[in-house]
Amino acid sequence: MTKWSTKSLSGWGRYPVIQAQCARPSDRDETISIVQDAPSPLISHGMGRSYGDAALLEDGKVILTRNLNHMLAFDEANGLLTCEAGVTLEEIINTFLPRGFFPPVVPGTQFVTIGGAIGCNIHGKNHHHDGCFGDHVTKMELLLANGDVVTVSPTEHKELFWATIGGMGLTGVILNATIKLTPVKSGEIDVETIRVENLDHFFEVSAESADFTHVVSWIDTVATGKNMGRGVFMRGRYSNSTATSESGGVDRLASAIGKLANGKSFNSNLLLNRFTVRAFNEAYFRKEKKGCVKSMTNYKPFFFPLDAVANWNYIYGPRGFLQYQFVVPSRDAVREALKLVSSSKEASFLSVIKEFGDKDHGGLSFPQKGITLAMDFPNTGKPLFKLFEKLDQLVLEAGGRIYLGKDARLPSKHVAAMYSDLDTWKDTRKKYDPNGLFASDLARRLDLL
Ligand SMILES: Cc1cc2nc3c(=O)[nH]c(=O)nc-3n(C[C@H](O)[C@H](O)[C@H](O)COP(=O)(O)OP(=O)(O)OC[C@H]3O[C@@H](n4cnc5c(N)ncnc54)[C@H](O)[C@@H]3O)c2cc1C
Repeated sequence: MTKWSTKSLSGWGRYPVIQAQCARPSDRDETISIVQDAPSPLISHGMGRSYGDAALLEDGKVILTRNLNHMLAFDEANGLLTCEAGVTLEEIINTFLPRGFFPPVVPGTQFVTIGGAIGCNIHGKNHHHDGCFGDHVTKMELLLANGDVVTVSPTEHKELFWATIGGMGLTGVILNATIKLTPVKSGEIDVETIRVENLDHFFEVSAESADFTHVVSWIDTVATGKNMGRGVFMRGRYSNSTATSESGGVDRLASAIGKLANGKSFNSNLLLNRFTVRAFNEAYFRKEKKGCVKSMTNYKPFFFPLDAVANWNYIYGPRGFLQYQFVVPSRDAVREALKLVSSSKEASFLSVIKEFGDKDHGGLSFPQKGITLAMDFPNTGKPLFKLFEKLDQLVLEAGGRIYLGKDARLPSKHVAAMYSDLDTWKDTRKKYDPNGLFASDLARRLDLL
């Protein structure tokens, strides 16, 4: 008999926080029984690293999937791993890096499950080179609303497969998936770090970096005038060297945040305001040497710098924080967005910018060709939401979209314009779940069901 208990639950941004009925099924059979016996709506919840309400459901039930944590099969010749959906990227790396394999796409943290990686169709620093996580999934077992388990792949139940890639958990529970891992010589990355002086310089360096498999740039979103868009650009490739870097596990940004957080939760978000963020950014930018600095860096500080700081999401105080991540096809729209942000009273403490390649999977998948900018803001309530409304308008007019995996407040009226084949996705979802058994607070807020 499954045990349900009421828990306080949130995404990584700690906004919103809800009370939810949660259960942690011990295995596949118990997960299937939960769905077969379900009297009320359900949503899957992996590591809860989506920022907003994608894995939350206030008056329904939340299935915590972390016990579905078994590796099921590995075809070493082809790098094909089949594992349960609650397995994390960290577990995959720890098991398979010593055998010469790495996950094909990783986000900025290794603490995400395979179910979450597929549910949000995550992108990494290599989107321009390797596409999204979904591009490397060859099949999945999906538990449907009627309790049946089906195998879906790019050739079997194709439309359901693609509706589930980036489907935000709304097509069923992914029980397991087969993923093509990337062969690597080591866990070291050959990195070039370049201080970029403004947005035009960023675009120049980005264009020159197409041959690098992984690129991303920290950006100072408070800087104005000739400094607008300045930042620190990183590009890299898996190293062929068998040597080990000395960088340990903490990068410069993480260590600065670690000092700031000092393991404590702030009682208010007053510490992170326009003035303190400006000072932090200035110091961080100035410390970077001019020109291009080459190094060999371990995969942890390169891919997952903030994982070195436990609970860094608590530095934003009790009201939590919101990330605004958008993608737009036009450079001018990025410039306008930076003007809006830098002239507002809000301050994004951590911001990254990168150019996506042309992989766009439609449905609810976020990446499309263009420039993506992600900004973390302390939750100041109304003033922040007003800024986000202006940014929404700009993103819409530029033909862009915002990332649902990071969202906690987009109004439903904007979704169809941002996700142009939403109706096709909705039809597929309805075909397999006509009564809306799978639901989330995000799905209700955005009228996705
Ligand atoms: C520090 C940090 C950096 C990040 N960087 C990036 C980045 O660079 N790129 C990027 O794309 N994302 C990034 N993210 C977001 C994160 O990768 C995604 O939100 C990911 O989905 C989180 O996985 P999770 O296991 O925590 O899933 P959850 O947050 O628990 O769930 C996310 C979605 O997946 C669904 N889901 C989870 N498990 C299943 C399942 N078994 N079956 C069906 N649906 C399921 C949920 O219902 C929900 O809709 C970052 C997050 C953090 C905290």
